[in-house]
Amino acid sequence: MLVLRLLNVVAPAYFLCISLVTFVLQIFLFIPSMFRDPSTTSLLSPALLHGALFLFLSANALGNYVLVIQSSPEDLGKGLNLGEGAEVVADWLAGSRSPGSVLPSTHFCRLCARVTQRHDHHCFFTGNCIGSRNMRNFIMFCLYTSLACLDSLVAGMAYISVVLSMSFANPLAFFTLLPHSISQFFSGALLSSEMFVILMLYLWLGIGLACAGFCCHQMLLILRGQTRYQVRKGMVVRARPWRENLQEVFGKRWLLGLLIPVLNVGNDYHRQKEK
Ligand SMILES: [Zn+2]
Repeated sequence: MLVLRLLNVVAPAYFLCISLVTFVLQIFLFIPSMFRDPSTTSLLSPALLHGALFLFLSANALGNYVLVIQSSPEDLGKGLNLGEGAEVVADWLAGSRSPGSVLPSTHFCRLCARVTQRHDHHCFFTGNCIGSRNMRNFIMFCLYTSLACLDSLVAGMAYISVVLSMSFANPLAFFTLLPHSISQFFSGALLSSEMFVILMLYLWLGIGLACAGFCCHQMLLILRGQTRYQVRKGMVVRARPWRENLQEVFGKRWLLGLLIPVLNVGNDYHRQKEK
């Protein structure tokens, strides 16, 4: 439990550090290096377009990150009047009753110390539970983090190819870059800043692919109307058309939510609160 609590603090700090480093490298290194190209003089230059794209991707990633934390699932033990359910919650907190034994699809998260309905999983990078209330923002956070990482990977490769006068036309060049750079770094032929950018290229590739994979898997579960918690516990899922499952998570303002970070006000949870 202590390890999980530590991870709950270290993972958000790790995410924020990587975001800050990526932002600094893009704004102060990659984008200025694109302006040095004499062909980039027009208003719609590749450097300006790339800068605008990176700001759009990172604003969406960070905006949805904040919204995932801000709209974390409500604590059933405090927020709703459950009658006997409140006693059940108290028993769960005391550890005398097994979680999920009385109220199906509810889950007591020990890290957040609360009972949530339609729980999906606990995300260590946001330090929060993910449920129906913040699922759309979580999906958007994964999607835009993945795109921002892959964008940084391409910009970083362009920077390295200019600085080291090398070509990435051969796909093997990327995979032989790391061992080659390490030997060059220790022989003094490579600067620390260049070595740092090369290490970041592999980190961006790893995070970008992991987030994309996670996002695709989560979308598959949403289309099936399942949560990770239900899959883990082997719970039976109600059969519904995939369109209804999608609407439940993405709400009515789904198109707006794809483009800018906004709260999901059209889903079932908010409809119930409005009544
Ligand atoms: Zn949690």
